[in-house]
Amino acid sequence: MRDYDLLVVGSANADLVIGVERRPAPGETVLGSDLAVHPGGKGANQAVAAARLGARTALLARVGDDAHGRLLLESQRAAGVDTGGVQVGGAPTGVALITVDPSGDNSIVVSPGANARLTPGDIRAADRLLAGARVVSAQLEIPLETVAEVVRTRSAGSRFVLNPSPPAPLPADVLAACDPLVVNEHEARFTLGDAAGPGPEDWARELLALGPRSVVVTLGAQGALVADGRTGTVVLVPSPRVDAVDTTGAGDAFTAALAWRLSLGEDLATAAAFAVRVGAAAVTREGAQASFPTAEEVSAL
Ligand code: ADP
Repeated sequence: MRDYDLLVVGSANADLVIGVERRPAPGETVLGSDLAVHPGGKGANQAVAAARLGARTALLARVGDDAHGRLLLESQRAAGVDTGGVQVGGAPTGVALITVDPSGDNSIVVSPGANARLTPGDIRAADRLLAGARVVSAQLEIPLETVAEVVRTRSAGSRFVLNPSPPAPLPADVLAACDPLVVNEHEARFTLGDAAGPGPEDWARELLALGPRSVVVTLGAQGALVADGRTGTVVLVPSPRVDAVDTTGAGDAFTAALAWRLSLGEDLATAAAFAVRVGAAAVTREGAQASFPTAEEVSAL
C-alpha cells in the first residue's frame, strides 16, 4: 500500500495581481487597482487540484521563509495536501507579478526565487516520499536537472507524468520516462520545433516518436487527444461544453485529475475522460486554485 496516490514535484508562487488601465512606458508610473495575492505556481496548483478531488496528495517544493511561503503552505494544507516535503528557506518565495489590462490580457514577470533552489539533492533527500507515491508528476518551473533527478530517484513501480511548462528541450531519459507527456498546443509545437506537422493528431504521433510511453495533447474547449505508445492509437476525448469564464489553471486541473485517475489504475483514455470534465469545471470559475472543483462538482457537471 503506497502512502500517496500522487506526489507533485514542482513550483509554488505567490501571484501578485494588479489591474491597470494601461501598462507604464519605461520611466513612467501608473496607478493600478488594489493588490490581490493568490497562491499559484504549477506544482502548488496541481497538488491543490488533486487533493480537492479526493486524491491522497503530497507536494515536494521549496518556498521562502516569508509571508508568501506561509500563504502557500496554508492553501496546501487547507486543501488536504501533505506538506511534509515542502522545504523552507534559501531564497524568497517565487513570485509572479501580474498586470491585467481592461481587455483581460495579462503581462507577467516571474521571479523563480526558492523554486530555482529546489535541487537534485532535495530530491535525493526525499527518497521516502518518492517511494511512497503511485504517480509522480512534475512541470518545468523548477530546474530541469531537478526533474531529471526525480526520474532517476522515483521507485520502479511508480508512474511519471510530465507537463513541460514552460517548454524547454527535454533530455532523452526524461522523455522516455513520461507516461504520459501532457502538452497543450503551444508546448506541443515548441517540443516538436520545425518537425511539427499540420495538426494535433500529427503532433501526438510525432511526440510519441520522441520516446514517451504515452502522450496527451490538450486542446482547450475541444478536449484532449490521447496517444498510447503501447497500442499506437490516437483518440479524441471531447470536453463538455461550458460557459468559460477564466481558463487560468485549466491545464493544471486537467493534469492533476489525469494523474490521480491513473494512480487508481484507470487506462489513459478513461482517466482523460474524467480529466476533461475537471478542466471544464475549472474554467467556469475565476482564478486558478479557487476554481478547482471537488469530485461532487465534477459529477454535477
Ligand atoms: P492549458 O491551460 O495548459 O493551455 P488547455 O487550454 O488545453 O490547457 O485546457 C486544458 C483542459 O481544460 C482541456 O483539455 C479541457 O478539458 C479544459 N478546457 C479548457 N478550456 C476549456 C473550455 N473553454 N471549455 C471546456 N473545457 C475547457
